[in-house]
Amino acid sequence: MYEAGMELMPFFKNIKYVRPSVEEFTEVVREVRLKLMTSQDPDQAYEAIMEYEKQLSKFDTAFALCMILHDLDTSNEFYGDELEFFDEANAAVAELCSAVLTGILNCPCADKLREKYGDMIFKKAVNQKEIISKEVIEDLAKESSLENDYSQIQSEAEIMFRGKSLNLSQLSVYLEATNRKVRKEAHAALDSYYMSKKETFDKIYDDMVKIRTTIAKKLGFNTFTELGYKRMERYDYNAEDVRKFRDNVVKYIVPITTQIRKLQKERLEVDELMFYDLPSLFRKGNPTPIVPGEGYERVAGDFFHKIFGVDPSFFDVLSEHGFTDLLSRKAKSTGGYCMYLEDYAIPFIFMNGNGTADDVATIVHEGGHAYAAIKSAEVTPFIECLSPTLETCEIHSTSMEFLSYPFMDMFYGDKADQYRELHMTQALLFLPYGCMVDEYQHIVYDNPDMTPDERHAAWKSLEEKYQPGINYDENHPFHAMGGAWMKKDHIFTTPFYYIDYCLAHICALQLWDESREDMKSALAKYNILCGSGGTDTFLKLIAQAGLESPFDTGVMKRLAFSACQFLEL
Ligand code: ZN
Repeated sequence: MYEAGMELMPFFKNIKYVRPSVEEFTEVVREVRLKLMTSQDPDQAYEAIMEYEKQLSKFDTAFALCMILHDLDTSNEFYGDELEFFDEANAAVAELCSAVLTGILNCPCADKLREKYGDMIFKKAVNQKEIISKEVIEDLAKESSLENDYSQIQSEAEIMFRGKSLNLSQLSVYLEATNRKVRKEAHAALDSYYMSKKETFDKIYDDMVKIRTTIAKKLGFNTFTELGYKRMERYDYNAEDVRKFRDNVVKYIVPITTQIRKLQKERLEVDELMFYDLPSLFRKGNPTPIVPGEGYERVAGDFFHKIFGVDPSFFDVLSEHGFTDLLSRKAKSTGGYCMYLEDYAIPFIFMNGNGTADDVATIVHEGGHAYAAIKSAEVTPFIECLSPTLETCEIHSTSMEFLSYPFMDMFYGDKADQYRELHMTQALLFLPYGCMVDEYQHIVYDNPDMTPDERHAAWKSLEEKYQPGINYDENHPFHAMGGAWMKKDHIFTTPFYYIDYCLAHICALQLWDESREDMKSALAKYNILCGSGGTDTFLKLIAQAGLESPFDTGVMKRLAFSACQFLEL
C-alpha cells in the first residue's frame, strides 16, 4: 500500500471513470500473441505478457469502478448504462484473455517462463482451455441469460405482508422477529411467494441444468459436475474428497446442531421448535452493536489497529481516503463486498449497515478480504494469480471474523459474549446447510434428466439428513415439499460454489482454535496466507501457512470438540 515517501494515495472521489476501449485491448492482444508465437527469450516474452497485463488491469479497474459508482447511487443512470456496455465487453475480453493464455502455453520459451515465473499461470491457462471453446459460446450466452432471469425475478419480488408490499430483503427482517406470531406470518408470506413462483423457477432451473449439461458434453466432459469443478478451478481436490468432507460434517457437526436446536427450544420456551423459529436464536433477539452506524468507521479502524498492531490501520487509511461506504441509504444497492481496484492497488469496501447483528461481522469479513488484497498486491506480476481460488479468499475473510472475538467488546460492550455465541452457533449451523446445497447440486447434475418433482423430493431427503427434525406446519406447503433450495441464488447463478464457504470455515476455525491459546501465532499464519495471494493452489497455500487440510477427518473432529466446549454444549 501507499507508504511514506512514495506516491500519494489518491482519494476515491478523485478517481475518474473512463470507459475502456475493447478495440485497443484487441490490438494489444494481437501484438502480444504475435510476439509470444516467435519468442525464444523468456524476458522478451515476459515483457510482452506485461503489456497485456497492463491492459487487463486497466479494463478490470474500470469495470470495478463502474460497479462501485453504480452501486453507490443507483439513481445515476450513467453508470447503469455503462454496465450494459460491460455485459458485452466482458465476454469479448474473456475471449481475448483466453487467447493470450493459450499463447503463453504454446510459446517456444514456455518451459523457461515456467521456471522463472512459476507454474500457476500455466495451470490456469490449461484449465481455461478446457472450460471454453468456440462451440459453446452461444450456449454460454443462453446460460447467463437464464441466470439473469432468476436474479431479475428475485430483485422484483413484491410480497404482501401486514398490508405492506415488501421486497425479499425487507421481509427478511420479519423472518427473525422476536415476536413469534410476526415471524410465523412472515414465513407464511415467504412460502406463498415462492409457491407462486414455483413453476417459473422450475422451468428456469430445468433449462439451466439442460444447457449446462450440453455445454459440458460439447467440451468433452461426462457431466456438468466435472465442468463445474473445472470452472471453480479445483486443482487439488475432487468430488470424492468433497463427498468425504460432507460425510464428516454429517458425522461430527450435525449432532452438535441437534444439540443447539434443543437448547434453542428451551431458550425460546416453545413446546415445539417450528420451522419459522429457526432464525431466532435468542428470546430477546440477536445482540446488536452498541456503536451507532456513524461510528463504525472509527471503531473498525481502531479494531484493525489493535489486532495487527499497526497505527493507523489499513482500514483507517482506506476510510480517510473514501474507500469505504458502510451504511445503508436510499438509492444504494443492497449487499456487501470488497472490490479491488488493480490499477491503484486499493480495495473498496461496500456494505449496507443498518444497525443489526450482521453489520459487524460484515465489516470484519470484508475487512479481511481488503487486508488480503493489500498484503498480496505485489506478490506476482500476473493479475490472474493475485487472488487465490474462492475457498481460499473466503478463509481471508472468515478467519478475520473468528479472530475478532477477543476485540468484540469494542462493538458490543457487555453483549460481546452473546455476539460470540451467536456467531459460533451460526457458523456451526451453516456447515450442514452448505453441504446440503452442495450435495443437492451433485445429485442434480449427475442426473440431468430428473423431473422438477424429483428434484424437490431429493432436497427433502437431504433436509432429513442434514437438518433433521425440521417441523413444518400447514402454512408452509412450499417448504414442506422440498422447495427451499429455490431461495438460494448460488444454486442458480454460481453452480458448485457453495462448498467453498464450508471448506473456508474449517480452515478459519483452525485459526480460531489456535488463537484461543496463542493469538500471535494464529495471526502469523493468517499473514502468510494473505501474503501469498493466488500464487499456488488451495491445499498448497494453506499448507504453506501451517494449516491442515479441511478434508482431514481428525481436523473436523478436533474442531467439533473445541466448538462444543466453547459453546458449553
Ligand atoms: Zn467473502
